[in-house]
Amino acid sequence: MASGDWHDWRWQLAHRVTSVGALLDLLGADFPVAPATRAALERAGAASVVSVTPCYLALSRPDDPRDPILPQVLPDPAEPAGAAAGSGVPDPFREEELEIAKGVVNRYPDRALFLLTNFCSTLCRHCMRRREWEGGFTRLADAEIDAGVAAIAARPAIRDVLLSGGDPLNLPSAYVGRVVRALRERCDLDLLRIGSRVPVTLPLRIDDELLRELAPAAPLWLNTHFNHAREVTVEAAAAVRRLAGAGVVVSNQGVLLRGINDTEGDLLDLSRALLRAGLRAYYLHQCDPVAGVRHFRVGLARGIELVRSLQGKVSGLAIPRLTVDLPGGGGKVQADGPQLLERRGDTFVYASPLTGARIEVDGSEGSFGGAGIWRERGIAWPA
Ligand code: SF4
Repeated sequence: MASGDWHDWRWQLAHRVTSVGALLDLLGADFPVAPATRAALERAGAASVVSVTPCYLALSRPDDPRDPILPQVLPDPAEPAGAAAGSGVPDPFREEELEIAKGVVNRYPDRALFLLTNFCSTLCRHCMRRREWEGGFTRLADAEIDAGVAAIAARPAIRDVLLSGGDPLNLPSAYVGRVVRALRERCDLDLLRIGSRVPVTLPLRIDDELLRELAPAAPLWLNTHFNHAREVTVEAAAAVRRLAGAGVVVSNQGVLLRGINDTEGDLLDLSRALLRAGLRAYYLHQCDPVAGVRHFRVGLARGIELVRSLQGKVSGLAIPRLTVDLPGGGGKVQADGPQLLERRGDTFVYASPLTGARIEVDGSEGSFGGAGIWRERGIAWPA
């Protein structure tokens, strides 16, 4: 690992690992892979974009065949293979069609998604917006922020705004402060939320400068994204505490991921770690039908059983709702909630909470398993 000021988040940003070759070189003898496997990994990396902060990569244990960190950041040959096989689409929720201003998506009548940037310091291989990674990192210009805020203000039915991206907390503090101030001043909102994985992948970024910008907009809600107990470090828990001290209510929205957190033990450990860090386990998302991520998907029936298995073993505060985002922009539903109308094998039929329409969801397990690398390391992916 490179030397430098490890505890400075700007140093972490500047020293992100941005290629598969650099990542494998850093892991070195701790993560030996055959030359053909390395070539396949590098091809997968070249077909996409790679980024991981040194502090997040340092959480990996390359000699652990069920290491939960590396598969989240190391491109898998299954990504391009799955995308080429037509498994998933780039934008399954029609976000681009539902834009009312640049970066503002109005899918639910009372809610708007405000996408400020496509940049994340650590790019998660299972990301639902990986279509945004191509073409370089950008953020909305000042005029675009103003236009977005005006579009939200012009629709008084919008009561709830979620700042997302990319990761908005990777942006400069003053920029974030400008956005939350404008929304508070010009829009009549019940809820102002931020979606950010910074507490997980770059926790030291939650610094005094950022908190000074956020505090005047309180109450703010922040949904973060821990997927495994290993991610709930001392630094991450301290970041959550600092946010809470500034009036930010922090909850967790993880993703159910094959080979990473798809056992009862993984989920129990995660739930307990979240409780210790003062976090409520709010949602656990079924992995979305996005091109190139199918190998991460846990079968929906198995996911429902896994979450049910937590009942009686841990506080209800630590039991997430397993949610499915219905394809075509049909809205979010609880996987085994009242909107589940029917199940036919691996096909689940839900009523859209937005239109009432019947929407079919493919609930099968991922099947492009690992094209070598994880199987080589002893993980039992399906054929
Ligand atoms: S932090 Fe969120 S938006 Fe960024 S790559 Fe990960 S899942 Fe995607």
